[in-house]
Amino acid sequence: MSTTAQTIITNARVLTMDPAHPRAEAVAIADGRILALGSGAGMAALGGPRTEVIDAGGATVLPGFVESHMHLLPGGAELDHLNLLGVSGAQALGAALGAFAAARPDQPLICAQQADYAIMGDRAATRGDLDAILPDRPLLLVAADHHTAWANTAALRAAGILGGRALDPGNDIVMAPDGQAAGELREFQAFGPVLALAGEERVHLGLVDGSEPDPAPGPSGRAHDRRHLARGLAHCARHGITSIVNMDGNRYQLELLAELRAEGALTARVRVPFHLRGERPLAVLEQASAMARDFDDDWLASGFVKMFMDGVIDSGTAVRSDDYPDQPGWRGDALFSAEYFAAACAEADRRGLQIAVHAIGCGAVARTLDGYAAARAANGPRDARHRVEHIELMRRDDIARMVDLGVVASVQPCHVPGALDFPAFPTLDMLGRDRWRDGFLTGTLARAGVPVAFASDWPVADVCPLRCLKAALTRRPFAKDCADERLDLMAALAAYTTGGAYAEHTEGWKGRLAPGFAADIVVLSRDIEATAPEAIDTLSVVRTIAGGRTVWAG
Ligand SMILES: [Zn+2]
Repeated sequence: MSTTAQTIITNARVLTMDPAHPRAEAVAIADGRILALGSGAGMAALGGPRTEVIDAGGATVLPGFVESHMHLLPGGAELDHLNLLGVSGAQALGAALGAFAAARPDQPLICAQQADYAIMGDRAATRGDLDAILPDRPLLLVAADHHTAWANTAALRAAGILGGRALDPGNDIVMAPDGQAAGELREFQAFGPVLALAGEERVHLGLVDGSEPDPAPGPSGRAHDRRHLARGLAHCARHGITSIVNMDGNRYQLELLAELRAEGALTARVRVPFHLRGERPLAVLEQASAMARDFDDDWLASGFVKMFMDGVIDSGTAVRSDDYPDQPGWRGDALFSAEYFAAACAEADRRGLQIAVHAIGCGAVARTLDGYAAARAANGPRDARHRVEHIELMRRDDIARMVDLGVVASVQPCHVPGALDFPAFPTLDMLGRDRWRDGFLTGTLARAGVPVAFASDWPVADVCPLRCLKAALTRRPFAKDCADERLDLMAALAAYTTGGAYAEHTEGWKGRLAPGFAADIVVLSRDIEATAPEAIDTLSVVRTIAGGRTVWAG
């Protein structure tokens, strides 16, 4: 390793996230790693004639953000769709869609994202509502959570599901009294056939079932999909994200990322899971082991298995251990039986793989922890750091189980109802007033000793870590009987840096700024510690450095 700095960032308020040396004034970088940290004069002494010197202007410098749960390929593709965030009522919806569709006369599907569950003002859109707006072209609105979508008649007919179709449990084409689809499509299997009209069918495979494209795309198809990834990576770089833990996946995505890397276009380190969906024979986990073996370096890695245990609260597909309010007897359908899931966890764990499970309702969280306990019973304790994704509702007695099992909580501050872009209602109504105090626990988990990693789940929510941090620092209790679930600034920053690294077993070389660690660095526009929590989203990322290379400067 060189002892001369290639880059020096000086005049900075460096928050290293390293407890041994929490602050510095300057950082020196060489060979993609941190060479040293210290005073401006001390670091200047490490410079040479060709050293690049960056004056941070007294602003905060942090380790690059670790985004612990997101979807890069769908996110990149959806940057090209209409965004309906904040659009409400038939008139506003018609205006937005009309202009968008008119500008794209040849597009086979008009696709809009971030549709509210009450987009018509007080209710979701029906097939008839959407026909009135766009009668002659296929139209699909997708909810922010990506678990529900709404289609018009042209889309349902073109996809061949206007008359309904039998689907696996947890998926539903909602039928109207007239015997035809009502427009609401619950979960991937239901709206997948409509999305396929867009010619973006490969984009969603990693989410739908983790399968590989069949037929395998040729060079132009691969180039098309690489463009989606590159668009997504550029969006992340602007927001200071230098590590991405992807939560959908297949080998194809890793191959495309490797192709981008060969072009010098990989601007963040990406980890991609094997997605186990449906109760497939456990021998398929050999594919997960193969991905873990074949992709295992500082930039591209796999090494974990993603599963979905349930859906989401808003559509009543999250699995809970009590009834949904106003729906006596309905608790949601788990996507895995307890028996299969326990066996799958034991087998993945035996292979040395990490497990990450989407579990939103308290019943899903409990069944997920049961599976992790079964893995421990089968294979003995190890530093597995299995993860639970989302945890929007939980039973109090499961907190101690998470601590005991060493399970990581991967939570999304921006998903908290009322904290940022997602409205408090109807989500809190669906939760039920008597369960508000068990909802969206973050501070409670952290105080109990559960390791916490932050994420956006982009494109479900805005990827911007600064906005997500604002939500984590400013959220208010849903009511007086709910605890304060905020984290303080340093704990919130840790959840986006050291906590994210811990959650992916990389805390030995990233997530903090220390000599020998990866030179993954974010320079902010101002001093974050001198900024009120409510104003953190007025900061911006002025430079993102990944592996010592500037990948964004604005
Ligand atoms: Zn997700």
